[in-house]
Parts: sequence; C-alpha cells; structure tokens
Amino acid sequence: MLPVFDGHNDVLLRLWTHEREGGDPVAEFANGIASGHIDAPRAKAGGLAGGLCAIYVPSGDLVFAEPDSDGHYVTPLAAPLELLPSLRITTEMASIALRLHRAGAWRLCHTVKDIRKAMADGVFAAVMHIEGCEAIGADLAALEVFYAAGLRSLGPVWSRHNIFGHGVPFAFPMSPDTAPGLTGAGFELVRECNRLGIMIDLAHITEKGFWDVAKTTDQPLVASHSNAHALTPVARNLTDKQLDAIKDSRGLVGINYATAMLRDDARSDGDTPLSDMVRHIDYIVERVGIDCVALGSDFDGATIPDEIDDAAGNQKLIAALRHAGYGADDLTKLASENWLRILASAWREERA
Ligand SMILES: [Zn+2]
Repeated sequence: MLPVFDGHNDVLLRLWTHEREGGDPVAEFANGIASGHIDAPRAKAGGLAGGLCAIYVPSGDLVFAEPDSDGHYVTPLAAPLELLPSLRITTEMASIALRLHRAGAWRLCHTVKDIRKAMADGVFAAVMHIEGCEAIGADLAALEVFYAAGLRSLGPVWSRHNIFGHGVPFAFPMSPDTAPGLTGAGFELVRECNRLGIMIDLAHITEKGFWDVAKTTDQPLVASHSNAHALTPVARNLTDKQLDAIKDSRGLVGINYATAMLRDDARSDGDTPLSDMVRHIDYIVERVGIDCVALGSDFDGATIPDEIDDAAGNQKLIAALRHAGYGADDLTKLASENWLRILASAWREERA
C-alpha cells in the first residue's frame, strides 16, 4: 500500500459538529464511526497517512443552487462573517486538533521531519490549516497565537469575502476572475506568513487574488484542492495561465476529489467514474509536470466518487493511476513526496 499525504480535508469540521451534538471528537476519530470520510481506522485501511486538516468556519446561510435546464448554476456567495464568532469556532477546532494530539489519536506536525516520523510510526500526521481567515483581525495578533498552537498553512479566503481578500463562488461555467484580489491587510497577511513560515494556499481565492499573492509571496504557489478549469470550468478550478504560474514557481496543485470539480457537467454526484479523476490528473501533469501535482481530497468536505467512498477507499485512486500508466516513482511523488517538498520549502526546512 502506497502511503498518501493529502493536501486538504475537513475532518475537524465534522469532529467539531459531533462535539456540539454532545459527542467525543477524540473517541470518534480514534475508534471510528460510520459517518463522514476520515477517522484513524479508515485512514489506516486506505493508506491515508496524514494531511492538511482545515479549520473552517461554516457559512450557515450557504444554499447550493440547483442547475438550470442547461446544467448551469451560480450559488451566491455566502455573507461575510464576524470576527468574534469566527475566532470562537476556530479556537474550538484548534482545541480539537490539540486534544487529538495529546490523546495520541493523531500527531500534530510542525515540520516535515515530524510528518516523516509520524508516517513511519503509523500515526496520522496532521498539519493544522486555516481555510478562510475570518478569525484573524487586521492586526494579525491571532495569527501569532495560532502559529504557536501549531498552525502551518492557511488560505486567506474561503468562497466568501473577508478583510484580506475575495473568494470565488460555486458556479458553472464561470471564470475565477469574479471579484477584486487581496486588500491591503491581505498583502500584510502574505508577508507575515512568509516571515513566520506558514504555507499560503490559493484554493478558493479569485484570479486577481491569485496574482496578488503570486507577486508578493516568496513561496512556491500552491492550490491545495483545485482541478483544471479547461476540463471543468467551475470558478473554483485553475485556468491554464494559473497552472503555468504554479509550474514556473515549482509549486503544487492538489487534485480535489469533489465530483463538482471533476465532471464535465460539474454536478455533485457520487456516481462519477475514477476516469474523471485520472483525466484531470493527466491534464495537469501534462501542463505543470509530475513534480507539481499531488492530492487534495476534500474528504469530509465534498461529494466524492462512490468508488472511493471514504478514506479506506483511497488506494483505489492509486490503483486507477497505476492502471493508467503511472510508474512507481511518479506515484510516490503524487501520493506524498511532492507535498513534503512544498511544505519543506514553505517552512524553510533544509533537505527534509
Ligand atoms: Zn475548500
């Protein structure tokens, strides 16, 4: 079984929801239950050795639009969120990440060395990521605190606007050039992430925001869970021009398993063949090279192909790629080594 280090999941959102309903998030993760996509037993069964675990403040008002007779849809952007409720929820999810670590249910990793050690020990290697920085004020004080708590990666925006920048809607077909880019505070956030060694994730940001980060950051460009706009023209996917910029920076694209970002018709439908995933991977590998592509499942955050079903089915994608002609070295890069190279670069670790 090929170990996979994955670029994006929402297991912390699921565990946080479970805790609000009176459950025990540590027990749910460690022992596993039959809901959602990731827990320790299913991760082990599917060779999911670790990944970036998103802290995401949910938008209660978001209702996904139904496609019209042509299959087109535009889900209006969720409303901006307030700082203090967002800070409370973000703190609660970070607390779950820390409790899982303390209980030994997973290992919260700060370095690539930590990740390699956890993978060798057979313990889920979690990296704390914030998806949409609504919990952080323009003074960036909270950024410093979350960094001390283990935060090593963030996306300035989710698919909504905040004080740092603008996100793209869930819409098909649509260009990612939907709104302005970074604000003044957003540029400051990028510079501070560079200083601290926090990876910046370009998933969900507008195309203008993408170029604003590109001209500011000293890191390779990374979109942790995005696919090819040329194949599935949703606003969340990356245009060829964006892919070329990622290649030029020796950055990375994490392939998203969300069927709405893989299918020709951009529908959320579990009845989606793995060939749609292979098609996006082939296209992006052709465009950016095998060193700049990896996985960003969106487990626990999206409708994924039924054939994979959950983390336990993760090796089915590896098998499909092997069948499509990817050799052992290429598969190792796609499964983990490309992510570890990027994280080492963003975190400024020498030869991790
Ligand atoms: Zn996302």
